[in-house]
Amino acid sequence: MTARVLNGKEIALEVRAAVKAGVADFVKAHGRAPGLDVIIVGEDAASVVYTRNKEKAALEVGMRGALHRLPEQTGQAELLLMIDRLNRDPSVDGILVQLPLPKHIDGEKVILAIDPSKDVDGFHPVNAGQLAIGRADRALVPCTPRACMKLLALSGVSLSGARAVVVGRSNIVGKPVAQLLLAEHATVTIAHSRTRDLPAVCREADVLIAAVGKPEMVRVDWVKAGAVVIDVGINRVPDPANPGKTRLVGDVAYAEAAERAGAITPVPGGVGPLTIACLLENTLLSAKRRSAT
Ligand code: NDP
Repeated sequence: MTARVLNGKEIALEVRAAVKAGVADFVKAHGRAPGLDVIIVGEDAASVVYTRNKEKAALEVGMRGALHRLPEQTGQAELLLMIDRLNRDPSVDGILVQLPLPKHIDGEKVILAIDPSKDVDGFHPVNAGQLAIGRADRALVPCTPRACMKLLALSGVSLSGARAVVVGRSNIVGKPVAQLLLAEHATVTIAHSRTRDLPAVCREADVLIAAVGKPEMVRVDWVKAGAVVIDVGINRVPDPANPGKTRLVGDVAYAEAAERAGAITPVPGGVGPLTIACLLENTLLSAKRRSAT
């Protein structure tokens, strides 16, 4: 079998087009554009690129986008002050603080400081709690897990009663995607670094989601024939074809897994592009909800 490739770039374009139309409607109705404010502390190269892309994506769909670049030595109090100002600014619908933060800043305190109604990353405990009690409709749901669900919808897999295995239990990906799968009536196993016989656990999966951060860890013999495989991992590894250069790979050994899976996401071009599209959706949703109250 050769798996169907689930192309995240294509759906991301559709989602962005829908958000753009929604933004235009919002501007007509409310006389202002939804606003996304992204904060980055420090100069981590990958994070600088991610935050620039987020600001650019917001501007491209007609939102007001702002990137606040703070120096590495910014104190926690100063960062919290900025968040407080954005919380109180009615033109701000989405606040995103790029992670990881420098070591001298307590990431949990920062997430707690964000107004949950503007928490477009969906990391605040209020949003995580709403998701956990089955009220995703009241929450802002983290973007990467939502991207995974869109790709599963594209695959056509019926989630009700399906066996789903999520490898990884982070608050950012593993746990929330497991909650979303549960809400769709899948039977969900969350695996992690202490899971015994991980290959055997994965082999039971009709839907396998890898969110680990270990290059090409999931091998073909971990994959059930016909399974839908969603690869969240983004790992930079040396490129044997270009000495001195690197390339991106996922957490799944793509070429071999694609021989057995029914459908699979590539890296790059799978979950990644859809994540930013989902961030734009969350910002528009936040703007609509906040303008309705
Ligand atoms: P974390 O490091 O926070 O979590 C990794 C999880 O994987 C942990 O639960 C850990 O288990 C588990 N794990 C680590 N090693 C193993 C192992 N050998 N066997 C089984 N489980 C293991 O990572 P994130 O969830 O933040 O990210 C995961 C990956 O997804 C990364 O590659 C990241 O770059 C990528 N990512 C991609 C995004 C996108 O837009 N496409 C967005 C966010 C992340 P334990 O809890 O026991 O330590």
